[in-house]
Amino acid sequence: MKSIPVDSWTKTHAEKLYGIPNWGADYFSISDKGEVEIVAPVGGTQARVSFVDVIKAMQERDLEMPVLLRIENLLDHRISYLNKAFTKAIDDAGYQNHYRGVFPIKVNQQNHVIKEISHFGSQYNHGLEAGSKAELVIALAHITENDAYIVCNGYKDAEFVDLGLHAVKLGVNCFFVVETPSELPTIIKRSRELGVKPKLGVRLKLASKVDGHWSEDSGDKSIFGLNTIQLMDLIEQLKQAGMLDCLQLMHFHLGSQIPNIRNIRNGMQEACRYYIELIREGVPLQYMDLGGGLAVDYDGSQSNDTHSMNYHINEYCVDVVEAIMEAFDPENIPHPVIITESGRATVAYSSVLLFNVLDISHFDPQPIPEKLPDNLHEMVGNLLGVADSIKLNRLQESYNDANYYRDELRDLFHRGQVSLRERALGENIYLVIMQRIVNKMPELDRVPHELEKLGEELADIYYGNFSVFQSLPDSWAIDQIFPVMPLHRLDEAPTREAIIADITCDCDGKIDLFASTEGEQRRTLPLHPLKNGDEYYLGVFLVGAYQETLGDLHNLFGDTNVASIRINQDNSFDVVTEFQGDSIADVLSYVEYDPYHLQLNFRDIAEKAVKTGKITVAERQRMLKDFSASLRGYTYYED
Ligand SMILES: *Cc1c(COP(=O)(O)O)cnc(C)c1O
Repeated sequence: MKSIPVDSWTKTHAEKLYGIPNWGADYFSISDKGEVEIVAPVGGTQARVSFVDVIKAMQERDLEMPVLLRIENLLDHRISYLNKAFTKAIDDAGYQNHYRGVFPIKVNQQNHVIKEISHFGSQYNHGLEAGSKAELVIALAHITENDAYIVCNGYKDAEFVDLGLHAVKLGVNCFFVVETPSELPTIIKRSRELGVKPKLGVRLKLASKVDGHWSEDSGDKSIFGLNTIQLMDLIEQLKQAGMLDCLQLMHFHLGSQIPNIRNIRNGMQEACRYYIELIREGVPLQYMDLGGGLAVDYDGSQSNDTHSMNYHINEYCVDVVEAIMEAFDPENIPHPVIITESGRATVAYSSVLLFNVLDISHFDPQPIPEKLPDNLHEMVGNLLGVADSIKLNRLQESYNDANYYRDELRDLFHRGQVSLRERALGENIYLVIMQRIVNKMPELDRVPHELEKLGEELADIYYGNFSVFQSLPDSWAIDQIFPVMPLHRLDEAPTREAIIADITCDCDGKIDLFASTEGEQRRTLPLHPLKNGDEYYLGVFLVGAYQETLGDLHNLFGDTNVASIRINQDNSFDVVTEFQGDSIADVLSYVEYDPYHLQLNFRDIAEKAVKTGKITVAERQRMLKDFSASLRGYTYYED
């Protein structure tokens, strides 16, 4: 931790502090005006648009904060990037087949995200992966006239299978990946009845384990995929049904957000061994599907930390291609089509959550009064002594002493031996001590463990107009780090240390873990003080994957307003789509209230109040109008 140079502050300091160059993948930067801008690759050059201008455009269209912003150019660029990286790795190595990506719909099911992926992706034959009937319905409706694939994972009932078989009949490369032994009889039965030969895949349960949050997707205890015994059984059943030639695809999924390239290499080696052995068993495999797992560097540390990745997409592609060639070439086995189901790496960058700060709570102590009471309580005097004797080499000791005296003071208050006024004076001196300790901490080489959280305890609370539960569920559920930073005023030193609370009344509704350029995570985020009534806007970045439909209605905060923009070569942008978020009536209906009946109930209550003389008829009218306006309103804080 280095202290912030307030006077000589430049945007370069801001870049370093918030780590944009580390996690931004060149899609975001800070302008000379101190605003964060989107850097969009358009037509061979880079176009720039400031978030401040985007927010203005949103407001002109009555899209109040919070807004989930989608940037179509970034989604397009990710799809190109992935496809080009595989193509280059394939060309460079002389690999004798091609790559086909499929986007796993579960990662972001929103209509225009899927539309954009299938529209823009069609030039690369980029397809879709469906894990349920509902997702297959989406996939089937987005088939384009090309060689894109649909891969069906998940449990499949007869209806699911029929839908997929229709696709095959339409000429689509639609694969059923068998995940459990019980699925095969249904698939065989339905394909016979419909007279369609299915394209089959098999999901394997690899023994290779991975690091990170989703390690349970792999290994013996993974709930998906066939083990070797079940695999042999599957082959036997297919042989008996005369359908072994249908089994063309081998699938495995090591887990999402795999931070360590070593895990991917190991998994590939094991998968290649399976493939070779299956070929020896007479299975005519032609496709190798590696599932998802390609990570996103959320904290920008380029490490094998859960929130990061110690490799680059290009390296991932090269390693996959090389692993196959190294294993297959000595055996003279033809190279398979490589399929990946990269979700996170495709959509994370393209969405940013924008919100405004509503209020700030400070925990700064008052200055210690010049003149203290003559009969100062002994315990308060002790605290004063600690405050006056803080030394760099004795911070822990001062911390211990202060806590001891503060606790004694509270005990005495409990027993009626200390007055409220005395206790308040003592507690304030305690805060002064803590503040002085925190101020000295940057000079320490190593911060003692107990003091690490002190900065957080004294930090300001910035109340943001959003719900963690609705918009950043992984931040709440699994402590996922997302880059958060102010969207403007970056030519000004941020002089406050803060945590960010949302507007739910839940103590878990907060962001208190942040990426840090120095590798370790930080517990507080430097922010600017609010300035004479001006709005202060923050952005949470890389939220395009998994956050939207996993979110919930905690405290009945609903979907936020959503807009998507496309950036043009001349640094202008078009608002392509806009959706008002949930109204209060919407979220109430999700939990089975009928807004109309609520209104009638309230009318009855108001009418009774008129009868008993509590309110006038005019007041009643005003109340009913406000009630129905609320039902139509946004669930978030409105000005
Ligand atoms: C979740 C999932 C994916 C997507 O994983 P990412 O890490 O987001 O790329 C792909 N395939 C399967 C089978 C999955 O369950």
